[in-house]
Amino acid sequence: TDNRSANIGVVGLAVMGSNLARNLASREGNTVAVYNRTYARTEELLTEHPEAGFIASETIDDFVATLAKPRTAIIMVQAGKGTDAVIEQLAERFEPGDIIVDGGNANFNDTIRRERELRERGLNFVGTGISGGEEGALNGPSIMPGGSAEAWETLGPILKSIAAVAEGEPCVTHVGTDGAGHFVKMVHNGIEYADMQLIAEAYDLLRRVGGLSVEQLVDVFKDWNSGDLESYLIEITAEVLAKKDAETGSPLVDVILDEAGSKGTGVWTVQNALGLGIPVSGIGEAVFARAVSSKPAQRGAVRSTVTSRPKAPEVPDTFVDDVRAALYASKVVAYAQGFDLIVAGAKEYGWDIDLGALAKIWRAGCIIRARFLNRIVDAYATKPDLETLLVDPYFADAVSSGEDAWRRVVGIAAASGVPAPGFSSALAYFDSLAADRLPAALIQGQRDFFGAHTYKRVDKDGTFHTLWSDDR
Ligand code: NAP
Repeated sequence: TDNRSANIGVVGLAVMGSNLARNLASREGNTVAVYNRTYARTEELLTEHPEAGFIASETIDDFVATLAKPRTAIIMVQAGKGTDAVIEQLAERFEPGDIIVDGGNANFNDTIRRERELRERGLNFVGTGISGGEEGALNGPSIMPGGSAEAWETLGPILKSIAAVAEGEPCVTHVGTDGAGHFVKMVHNGIEYADMQLIAEAYDLLRRVGGLSVEQLVDVFKDWNSGDLESYLIEITAEVLAKKDAETGSPLVDVILDEAGSKGTGVWTVQNALGLGIPVSGIGEAVFARAVSSKPAQRGAVRSTVTSRPKAPEVPDTFVDDVRAALYASKVVAYAQGFDLIVAGAKEYGWDIDLGALAKIWRAGCIIRARFLNRIVDAYATKPDLETLLVDPYFADAVSSGEDAWRRVVGIAAASGVPAPGFSSALAYFDSLAADRLPAALIQGQRDFFGAHTYKRVDKDGTFHTLWSDDR
């Protein structure tokens, strides 16, 4: 029999849980207890990774008994009902001061509810975002924990031991209380949607309007990855484009059905942004673009109705650079909007979120990791209460120096009939913020006309209503 005790346990040993458990076990000072509902999965992990020195249990009672106090267990099971079931099994056996961690992709509203219920029972509950997929879980993810400061004291060193490292610093910080970690993980995923959509638009324009071959595009993305666009998503784009289909020999991207799937975190981001009144149009367009792609019947119907497509206009010699500038500027907008949503969420739910610290932990381990994040770290270090990332001197300069190119690309996209919803809505957002006057004045007039909703004036204080028409 095994008389050791574990400082950390993992429940749920599918791909994410087993990789996280192996990551934990590989770090100095950790002894890891493991448990899975179906024991066969546990046995498989033990057989394949004897080097990890796991303490394995067949029953949840035995698992809990192997944990040193304060007991700390990370749950990595199917989000939703599975997570609730495991939380209850642990909560029935845990004692005050013990810590239950949910590392799955929970909805932050569930995390707020679970934290409250468990706190009332004297237990600590920490919902944490974990980004980086299977690879990250094994070698170092970006970790976004919420929960109490008390829980962070015990959990912090453990999470720091397994997180990715960026410039010598572990990619984990105590984001805020209760659901803060899962909220920012949700926004992270939303930004990821926007980033992917923008890269896809750049690819489409360069290929269909610019006339570049897939081989040439591999080089373009490799080149971009050595400049200020350097990021995991640009890097894997070059690799995806370079891949040939084993069966046909053509680029694999040409064989893949063009209907994008999703698991819902992008939708959550937009739903919450709508509720909080934050225009995350970049994320919204990305979610909608995936939805449009997944409507084959409508696409087919319209394609067969439309008889002629516009002829692509001449493109300037600078087109590749223009598209790079459009991508960069649109990306700044998407991040600016995402950070706006985090600020609004923090205000709504009472979290004290350090935006600079958050940008820091996204620099490595996660899907949106990018050189760019260093600039965001600097922006918030210089001015923590920045109105929007767009007015940080570095980003303001980057956007204005690429602005002409951005406009050319959006114009060419429209003239060519190649959809670029991300690029064009980002430009519209920028132009809206930069405008002296918006047609919102007309909308206020219309609202007052049909609903007596009143309006304010530019020249004096007060609320006004006009009798618009004598015969109404
Ligand atoms: P998964 O397929 O989402 O879930 C399978 C695991 O959940 C198995 O261990 C299964 O146990 C367990 N499970 C399901 N219902 C259960 C219940 N009612 N009681 C006890 N155990 C239950 O696994 P995964 O892909 O490894 O993902 C785990 C979590 O990480 C999910 O929340 C997922 O959303 C999240 N995730 C995150 C990333 C990321 O990049 N951050 C990537 C993938 C997944 P059995 O073996 O007994 O069936």
